[in-house]
Amino acid sequence: MADAPLLIKARKLAETRFAPRAAGWDESRQYCWENIDDLVEAGLMGMTIPRAYGGRGASFHDVCLVVEEVAKACTLTARIVVEANMGAISAVMAYGSEHQKRLCAALVLAGDKPAICITEPGAGSAASEMATTARRVGDRYVLNGTKHWITGGGVSKLHLVFARVVSAAGREEGIGGFIVLADPSAKAFPKGFSVTRRERTMGLCGMPETELTFEDVEVPADLALVPPSGFRRGFADLMNAYNSQRVGAGTIAMGVAAGALAHARRYLLERKQFGRPLAEFQGLQWMLADMDIGVHASRLMLHEAARSAETSPSGFPDKTMAARAKVFASETAIRIVNDALQLLGARGYCDQEPLERMARDVRMFSIGGGTAQVLRTQIAGALLGIKTPQTRDGYSLLAAIKSQRQAAE
Ligand SMILES: Cc1cc2nc3c(=O)[nH]c(=O)nc-3n(C[C@H](O)[C@H](O)[C@H](O)COP(=O)(O)OP(=O)(O)OC[C@H]3O[C@@H](n4cnc5c(N)ncnc54)[C@H](O)[C@@H]3O)c2cc1C
Repeated sequence: MADAPLLIKARKLAETRFAPRAAGWDESRQYCWENIDDLVEAGLMGMTIPRAYGGRGASFHDVCLVVEEVAKACTLTARIVVEANMGAISAVMAYGSEHQKRLCAALVLAGDKPAICITEPGAGSAASEMATTARRVGDRYVLNGTKHWITGGGVSKLHLVFARVVSAAGREEGIGGFIVLADPSAKAFPKGFSVTRRERTMGLCGMPETELTFEDVEVPADLALVPPSGFRRGFADLMNAYNSQRVGAGTIAMGVAAGALAHARRYLLERKQFGRPLAEFQGLQWMLADMDIGVHASRLMLHEAARSAETSPSGFPDKTMAARAKVFASETAIRIVNDALQLLGARGYCDQEPLERMARDVRMFSIGGGTAQVLRTQIAGALLGIKTPQTRDGYSLLAAIKSQRQAAE
């Protein structure tokens, strides 16, 4: 790792602070503010932010190494590390103006976990079918719509809201990202911005998963995040940045699996049945070996994807590598954590051990950030060299807008 001291700090924090507190956040469903203070102090928020903006210029691969250590102890905190280094903040650092980069870097370095707002009640896997609009009015954009499943809604200050851009003349221009700022701790939200619902999730319980409503929310035009190729390719470029978050999500799953494997290994060595340690039963040894193989294979795929960013023109991980690694790591981790729980017998099924929490937490990673099914479709498309339309008539809303625009020109 380019920044070995960071990894050492992350490992120490995970063992001494994050692991002992993890059950508490799960039970109370409270956001882990104490852990955020530790992350800020250790320099683990905004590691990927370039030095010119106060960060350390760490690579996505560096972040993966840190995330794995944190995820072994606390899935919730590992998600914060991912979102404070990948996804929305990396999109701003890649495509943002000087003003946007300074503004967002300062927030993240001070402990804010950005919220990325793509999903809507009617647009989950079909994300490009989003209905939220950003209409240009004078020197601002006016946002209207509802976002759902927004991680950190109600605790995050920085929101990157994806919306259909409508010009002052009423013409659809593509999908853009809009930086919306709030200060939840001071209960200060922009006029028209509300947190309208919090979901009661099965796992990752300390993290608010919320619905956000935008009613005529005004965003200054200089907070529109416009990739170099403009709004027309805006969605593709913004989703390119999202590939880093997919690698991060897979890494959390792999880290949780590695943590579960360590618990199971310890238990097999300690627990005796039939007069000998469980570790002596070959059937259990082979389960442990399969778990180890799964963790290692996932790690290799994830690191390959993270490192691909270092040579890609966009500076983000390769889309297919990211998809492949996330599908494999998330599904493998769900199986590994379930097997680890099995190896602990009844103890695995109760909250004396962290396995039941880990099993609930890890279940999310084949859903959030692109489901395993949708990512498989993406991988198959790359293999076959075809983009299979998912709509019944093979005609997406974006294509419809494009042809409408071409007809008008
Ligand atoms: C804990 C959590 C946190 C999240 N955080 C965020 C966030 O911060 N920001 C954000 O924008 N979103 C977030 N999401 C939303 C997430 O990205 C969506 O849940 C995901 O994209 C799937 O959308 P959906 O849940 O509406 O499922 P749907 O799209 O309704 O899919 C339902 C099922 O159908 C399958 N399916 C759908 N279409 C196809 C197809 N064409 N081919 C094959 N199978 C298909 C899916 O794989 C899935 O199994 C989060 C979700 C969760 C669970």
